[in-house]
Amino acid sequence: MSTSQYNSKYIITQPKEGLVIPKWAGSLSDTRSTRLFYLDSEVRENAFYCEVVWFWPTKEKDTSSPEPHAHDFGEVIGFFGTDPNNVSDLGAEIEFWIDNEKNLITETFLAFIPAGVVHCPLNILSITRPVFHFATMQGSSYEGQEKD
Ligand SMILES: [Zn+2]
Repeated sequence: MSTSQYNSKYIITQPKEGLVIPKWAGSLSDTRSTRLFYLDSEVRENAFYCEVVWFWPTKEKDTSSPEPHAHDFGEVIGFFGTDPNNVSDLGAEIEFWIDNEKNLITETFLAFIPAGVVHCPLNILSITRPVFHFATMQGSSYEGQEKD
């Protein structure tokens, strides 16, 4: 029995070892964001893609979005505001293109992108408070599911 109070077979507390950051995503951690967790079938057998990122307040405009793309699986993408007095207020303005339509979003949101629906770019146009980001998809990795 391990001395920790949890089973590391199931509980993950560290970023993926040797995680290769996509060019559009910058670095593991910088003044704009900190990539907290990245889960896929390489991190835990049979796991599906899941990613968690903090975005930090900055005056820099983030236009480092992924290119427009679609997946063979549905994808869930969420951005969550951190004002304890109004959790619906995103504290940021996000431009998110879905199915060739631009959405300008200032509320905490969860998006479900069905399989085959083209999405992105996704740009944080402004951000005044920390924003928590979560994305997941049934595929075994993010990279393995992209298609043109
Ligand atoms: Zn996607």
